[in-house]
Amino acid sequence: MAIVVEVDNGSGFCFGVTNAIQKAEELLTRGESLYCLGEIVHNSEEVNRLESKGLKTVDYSNMSSLKGKQLLVRAHGEPPETYQLASESGVNIVDATCPIVTKLQQRVASAYSEMQLVGGQVVIFGKKSHPEVVGLIGNANGAAIIIEKVEEVAMLDCSKPTVLFSQTTMDGEDYVALGEAIKQTMDTLIPNGSSQLKVVNSVCGSVSNRKPKLAEFSSRHDMVVFVAGKKSSNGKVLYQVCKDANPNTIFMESAAEIEESMFEGINSVGVCGATSTPLWLMELVAEKIRAI
Ligand code: SF4
Repeated sequence: MAIVVEVDNGSGFCFGVTNAIQKAEELLTRGESLYCLGEIVHNSEEVNRLESKGLKTVDYSNMSSLKGKQLLVRAHGEPPETYQLASESGVNIVDATCPIVTKLQQRVASAYSEMQLVGGQVVIFGKKSHPEVVGLIGNANGAAIIIEKVEEVAMLDCSKPTVLFSQTTMDGEDYVALGEAIKQTMDTLIPNGSSQLKVVNSVCGSVSNRKPKLAEFSSRHDMVVFVAGKKSSNGKVLYQVCKDANPNTIFMESAAEIEESMFEGINSVGVCGATSTPLWLMELVAEKIRAI
């Protein structure tokens, strides 16, 4: 009996990534040369597709040699120094920063100025090397403190006024737990110390709103194939949602990883992915499973 395969219609690119890729494709289709600062999306299959159309992925070290060229800033955004360097090097920026990230950068910059006046600090819950976090740190003049895990709260000076932000793709429940842990520590140091903490809700709805639907989708199938790039932060979060709802969930980067033996005794498979996973890739994975 053929395996029934369903592709989750709520998975795939968020609007920030869709916008960046549309901008890139518009320019490439017009035959214009386009460079992208870092991988346009944390999905090597999609990067390969766009590179085959002419997109060139570069890093900071290449910027001084791109005079007069178009350089795309991806949805994750960049710190102010990148725009400064581009301007000094005569590089034309095509800005595809997600509007949600732009707003977050502005809020981080304003919180930094506010905290400067009162001897406080800006704390960001996120991955230190994630490009969005690098951009946010730049908007806090390089002085934001990065917390990757709730347990790291011990390294914070909780006697200071603090504004807490999250990278947009972190897990919302972990973020709430971190805020609570900081509050508790503040209250043990100073009576009502937690009144010095402001928690900004900056987890993006494109990730958090998908969780309940993804859990329901995962529980409807014998097996779930979650498709995403290994570097995708929201991929890790959403994969765990699927795994919790259906322990028979596997992580896959490309259709080449499919082996017939994986699907023995399986009648139905759900294929889903991250906000950085292209629909065409999930369809390709589904087709290959159907052909078993
Ligand atoms: S996850 Fe949210 S903030 Fe990040 S690019 Fe997508 S829409 Fe924008």
